[in-house]
Amino acid sequence: MSARDPRICIIGAGMSGLLMAIRLKEAGIEDFRIYEKAASVGGTWRENTYPGLTCDVPSFFYSYSFEPNADWTHRFPPGPEILTYFQRVAEKYDLLKYISFGQEVESARWEDGAWSIETASGEKTTADVLIAACGPLHKKHYPQIDGIESFEGEIFHSAAWDHDVELAGKRIGVIGTGSSAVQMMAPLSEVASHLTMFQRTAQWIVPLGNKAYSRRWRRLNRLFPILGKLTRMYYQRMYESFSIAVVKDGVRRRTIAKQCRNNLASVEAPELRLKLTPDYEPMCKRLVISADFYPTLKKEGVDLVTEGIDHVEARGIATEDGKLHELDVLVLATGFDAHAWGVDQVVGEGGISLKQAWAEGTRTYRSIGMPGFPNLFMLVGPNSPVGNVSLIDVSEVQTGYVMQCIDWLREGNARTLSPNAEATRKFHEALLGAMGSTVWTTGCKSWYLDEDGVPITWPWTAKRFHDEMRRPDFSDFDRVGA
Ligand code: NAP
Repeated sequence: MSARDPRICIIGAGMSGLLMAIRLKEAGIEDFRIYEKAASVGGTWRENTYPGLTCDVPSFFYSYSFEPNADWTHRFPPGPEILTYFQRVAEKYDLLKYISFGQEVESARWEDGAWSIETASGEKTTADVLIAACGPLHKKHYPQIDGIESFEGEIFHSAAWDHDVELAGKRIGVIGTGSSAVQMMAPLSEVASHLTMFQRTAQWIVPLGNKAYSRRWRRLNRLFPILGKLTRMYYQRMYESFSIAVVKDGVRRRTIAKQCRNNLASVEAPELRLKLTPDYEPMCKRLVISADFYPTLKKEGVDLVTEGIDHVEARGIATEDGKLHELDVLVLATGFDAHAWGVDQVVGEGGISLKQAWAEGTRTYRSIGMPGFPNLFMLVGPNSPVGNVSLIDVSEVQTGYVMQCIDWLREGNARTLSPNAEATRKFHEALLGAMGSTVWTTGCKSWYLDEDGVPITWPWTAKRFHDEMRRPDFSDFDRVGA
């Protein structure tokens, strides 16, 4: 290897993989390849196509800071618009030629001082630097429910929507009450003959409406880009304030909690309101944003079922009260295995996989690296999500950090970098120490928690994330071949 010209492999051509590629090109690095399991770019925005899909981060904040888009049609951008945005960026920055599509990375092993990477189709390559840009929400969680395979209607996961299935006039069931389920309820209620949501746990809902941006506003935005910049700043501040509310008890947390409680109080029917009342603090689970969910539940032909699911049978879902809910279509809006992180595939020094390294709990050095995994950098890895702030913002900070590490290698300071065990231990201890004051540990189950109930989130503010990740402290890294 030439330490001055590392070969780089990126896993995933979603939001963070594309961003990393742009940064590499800006630095004049051309020797990199992106392995993408699917046939096109876009990650989660390619996979999720369910009716009503929107981002729960405002569009002007959910875009690369250097690539504003004056044409967003809504405050919360519809999924297809976001996908188009990423496709456009990939073309504009001429990234497609660097991407091997349809190549799912099956293993990445640190061998003889480099990463040996093999895809499911048998393609092999070697890289000096491995960047995992797979994102946390791409392994679908399929619920283990007795008899589910015997259902004779149409059944699919929310992230694998079957658009060949006719929905009009059908009896549709939705399992789940997360953001995906909530977002699809209003559009499904427009077409279904009957719509039933099967709720295991009630959600707190904050009623931020999805206002449309007028043509005039979009035209003005094109003419005066400062408008978009100011709008971005406004939402960034709003969401950063939210990032304080989730990590510190105080007036911000109480204000958002009050908005959620007031919203719930708007449900007049006492029985429905009771069913919708969570038994945990607002924001403990990732907060669901919707202004149309409660009104949808009040509609004729829409039901909320809170009896537990006993089993599924050919004609529908049988609940624990012995009732059979007959269905034509069953949507599994049951979320993701948010802790997959390529744990089996990535094998570091001494043949230790990430799974083995994390046997006693997921840990990282600043969510970016792991001792024993030289030149492995994770984007939006464990401990990345910062409140509800835009993951694009998070990823911009992390790619800036990774670029500094790559530059350090290119300058010949070392052949490999991996965070040392002591710095990682200290970071993890500080992180665990701070978790106690976050809202995520106040008593609920969510995809933020690992198997031991420890949040895999960033327990400090977005500002601290920006400050701590501004510059690598290379004394925290083992440097080989300096
Ligand atoms: P989720 O928040 O993890 O929700 C999964 C739902 O499925 C929960 O209500 C869960 O119930 C339920 N569930 C799982 N297994 C079940 C079972 N065996 N029986 C009954 N219910 C079961 O998943 P999601 O809605 O897909 O959202 C995941 C995350 O993706 C969100 O928090 C958000 O960060 C992101 N997301 C973003 C957007 C956006 O911005 N556009 C849209 C959708 C999703 P319990 O609560 O009881 O576990």
